[in-house]
Amino acid sequence: MGLEEKLPSGFLLSTVEQMAGYMRKGSLWPATFGLACCAIEMMSTSGGRFDIARFGMEAFRASPRQADLMIVAGRVSQKMAPVLRQVYDQMVEPKWVLAMGVCASSGGMFNNYAIVQGVDHVVPVDIYLPGCPPRPEMLLHAILKLHDKIQEMPLGVNREEAIRAAEEAAMAQRPTIEFKGLLR
Ligand code: SF4
Repeated sequence: MGLEEKLPSGFLLSTVEQMAGYMRKGSLWPATFGLACCAIEMMSTSGGRFDIARFGMEAFRASPRQADLMIVAGRVSQKMAPVLRQVYDQMVEPKWVLAMGVCASSGGMFNNYAIVQGVDHVVPVDIYLPGCPPRPEMLLHAILKLHDKIQEMPLGVNREEAIRAAEEAAMAQRPTIEFKGLLR
């Protein structure tokens, strides 16, 4: 008799890792943290029209101790960078960072000495969202992608090592440019 024949109907099997991933992705609480115009789009996602509450994420926490997702919404000035890092350090583990918009991701149009050219210089970033500003639907899409990532993250993994490994895997898949025949 097969295993499935012995189990009563309505009985689900899973692994502890999968259950932990499922619960983690379903209980993300973002930190209340907005830096510029992108923050307005982030705030609209918690309104009735876009309804981030569908994912149990409408409770933007005022204390980093109660938050495990930092949405960096807007350009990061050099002056703000240490503050941002301190908020990140005070957030509970495991925690995730979403760089919202081109300014947070790369400095965007602010290619100058006053703005950090990508928030990944300050904190490890899990997901980058392009756009200026990205619309609330785009933010929701990035959050769903982050959910997938959280679901697949093994338990007990060192987060920064996991990010490095994922980046190396992405670099390995990147198509190499063939210069043969182009250089004359
Ligand atoms: S990406 Fe555009 S909307 Fe977002 S902070 Fe920069 S300038 Fe503002």
